[in-house]
Parts: sequence; structure tokens; C-alpha cells
Amino acid sequence: MHSQDLQALDRAHHLHPFTDFKALGEEGSRIVTHAEGVYIHDSEGNRILDGMAGLWCVNLGYGRQELVEAATAQLRELPYYNNFFKTTHPPAVKLAEKLCQLAPAHVNHVFFTGSGSEANDTVLRMVRRYWALKGKPEKQWIISRENAYHGSTVAGMSLGGMAPMHAQGGPLVPEISHVRQPYWFGEGRDQSPEAFGRTCAEAIEARILELGEDNVAAFIAEPVQGAGGAIMPPASYWPAVKEVLAKYDILLVVDEVICGFGRLGEWFGSLHYDLEPDLMPIAKGLSSGYLPIGGVLVGDRVAETLIEEGGEFFHGFTYSGHPVCAAVALKNLEIMQAEGVVEGVRDDLGPYLAERWASLAEHPLVGEARSLGLMGALELVADKASGGRFDKRLAVGNLCRDICFASGLVMRSVGDTMIIAPPLTITREQIDELVALARDALDETAVRLAK
Ligand code: PLP
Repeated sequence: MHSQDLQALDRAHHLHPFTDFKALGEEGSRIVTHAEGVYIHDSEGNRILDGMAGLWCVNLGYGRQELVEAATAQLRELPYYNNFFKTTHPPAVKLAEKLCQLAPAHVNHVFFTGSGSEANDTVLRMVRRYWALKGKPEKQWIISRENAYHGSTVAGMSLGGMAPMHAQGGPLVPEISHVRQPYWFGEGRDQSPEAFGRTCAEAIEARILELGEDNVAAFIAEPVQGAGGAIMPPASYWPAVKEVLAKYDILLVVDEVICGFGRLGEWFGSLHYDLEPDLMPIAKGLSSGYLPIGGVLVGDRVAETLIEEGGEFFHGFTYSGHPVCAAVALKNLEIMQAEGVVEGVRDDLGPYLAERWASLAEHPLVGEARSLGLMGALELVADKASGGRFDKRLAVGNLCRDICFASGLVMRSVGDTMIIAPPLTITREQIDELVALARDALDETAVRLAK
């Protein structure tokens, strides 16, 4: 079928996620046909470096035949069975064991879901159940952060702090409260990064006192806020947050959907920041995105209560721990271990990207270039000296994103913040290519703005 025919059908029948349906109809979609390594290919014959690993998920890169074989073998053996009640199957059990080996030491259980959003719905259920079992049903409030993304189901969207989603979403899940994010470049430059990190932790304590110190059940956050703009918190932030949560006996939920599975150079972002979460939602890189699977890693404190005191937990999904998805996820983790992918990010590729990415800070359009592991961001500014931002109506980030795409690089824009999170199997040479393409796109953006 020709591209134009596919585009016409797409326009006629397909409502894309996070898309202005009408604008899509006018422009027509780019059709991605195949992919290999870190490159995707489209129906026009273009090869594009996927600087976003799909949606932050294709950690092992495209075209891994071992994953295809794991899927087909499992499809032949047992294409489906569930884990409800008292049944299970080998892939789910083996994956659970592997995850608990890789997780922080106090984490020894996992509850499987089909996605990251479902994982966060599960978090909400577990947090509320835990405090009810502990005889503290008044602990209902969950504190999250502005601009956080925790999924698109009603619970995920309510936990998240994306204002446009809240505005469209109708009544939200009640008793979720959002505090400021530790986004130094965007919101904290009147203080040093370290002071600002502490200010943001103090905002959590202030909110706890406002809501009532006995009423707060949990705090949820990503180690590094991903979809919000690849926001690495100042070094003072997490230690101060940990102190606040311990003071008021509040559960810590660390959303590892993006940061898990090597993105920051550790198996989990929690290990990078020395966090001991009670609950860790996971998805994406768990299967390198080859098949949909997610879950919640459950720390001993919550797990023991749910197991010993909980009785039946009325919650689960038809595809919780789907055997084919679990088999692929297990193979994915085994390959990552065998190839030392996570160590490669920590010791080699992450530091290499940091050095190369930092060179973009010299560009006249860039106010800050930051990275950690294989996640990076560029803050585009109108005035380099003052760091002043562009008028939002100019949509400079989207302009730069589109220029990138046309010239062979997927970079994401969040407002005027440009983001990368390439496959963890990218080579040093491909990092050079990525940085060169980004620099060219910045040059071209500057030219277009000057017109
Ligand atoms: N949590 C975080 C931090 C995410 O980035 C995402 C997706 O981008 C989700 C949860 C939701 O995951 P899913 O899209 O698999 O439902």
C-alpha cells in the first residue's frame, strides 16, 4: 500500500494518542515502517536516529532477534494464561524472581500490570489498602508534583500534575495534592540549585502540615522527572525529601517507568539517588517496549502487610504478567545483564554523552544543557545572557523538534525544553552523530527565528 493511501486511511479512522486530531488530518502522519539498532525508517525512505528510544522504552534498541525468538517460543508453548487466584506460569515466576534480584534489597515482591498507567492505578490501591490495614484510614492524601506524568488512566492522570490533562479530564481522583517540582532552571534561578532543592523539599513539609500531618499516605515522584522535561533535581533535593517523609511516616512511591532499567546508569533511578521506595511502578524498558508489560515492585514493609493481614486483594488485570510479555521481558533483562548495558551507561556512554551534550551549552539558543546517564535536555532561551525565555506562542521547541525530525533525529520538545533519551545500546559514534544533528537543528532554528 502506498504512503498516501495509508495516510488517508489513518486520517479517516485512527485517533492518535496525545494528538490534535484535526491538525493531524491536515498534515498527514509520518509512517514508520521498520527499525534497526538506534534508527527508525519511514515510508519515504528516510533513516532517522531515534533519540527518544520510541517513548523512552526501546532500551536495547530495535531488531533484537533474541527477543523475537523468546516471544515466538512462548507463543507456541503457552500464548496465554492468567495469574489470577492460585494459578501461575513459568515466565511470570521467573521474571518476578529476576526483578527482585535487580531491585533494591528491601524489595522482594512484584505485582504485574499491562502498562505504567495501570501500575500507578495499582499503587493507589496498594497505598490506601496498606493504611487501612494499619488501622490508619485517615491517611488518604497522596502528594505528587506539578507537571509530573504518571499515566493516562484516570488515576494516573490524577496522580500526575499536568495542568492540560487535568483541565480536560473531568473530576479527578480526590485527595491528591501537587507541590512544586525541583526544576531549578525553570523555577528556581533566584536561588542556588542546592538552596532551591531544599526549598522544594520544604514545600512538601508545608503541604503535609496543611493537609494534616496524620492524613498523608504517600509521596510519589520520579527520580528524574521525564515527560515533564528531563528535570534532574539538585543534589540536595532527595536527601531532604527522605528526611521529611520519615518524620511523618509517609510512604515513598518512586515511579521508575522511565528511569528504571538503566536509563540513569543504574538498574533503577532509586539506586542512583539512594532511595528506599515502598512502591516502584515499572514498565517501558522492562521489555524494551517490544511487548506491553508493567508492574509494581513492592517493598517489604507494604508487601508483608498486604500478605499477612490483607486477605484477598480485589485488583488485577487480564494481562497481569502475560506469559509472552513476561518471557520477552525476562530475555530483555538477561541480555542487558549479559552485555553489561547498565554498567556501560554508568561508566562509559553516560559520561561520554555528558561531555558531548555539554558542548551544546555554547550555542546561542541554549540556556542550559544537562544530562544524566542517557537522558538529556536543552533549555532554549531567547536571551542567552539573562536566560530569558521565548514567547510561548512562538512554539520554538516544536519548531526545533520538527527541524530535527526532518533532518534525521527524533528529539522531543516539552515547551522550549528539548529532550533526548536514546536506546542504551547507542555507540559513541552515534552519540557524536546525535549531538551533531542536534547542533545543526539548533542552527536552523536560529535561522528560521531570525526571518
Ligand atoms: N509513569 C511515567 C513516569 C511515565 O513516563 C509513563 C509514560 O510515559 C507512565 C507512568 C505511563 O506508562 P504507560 O504509558 O505505559 O501507561
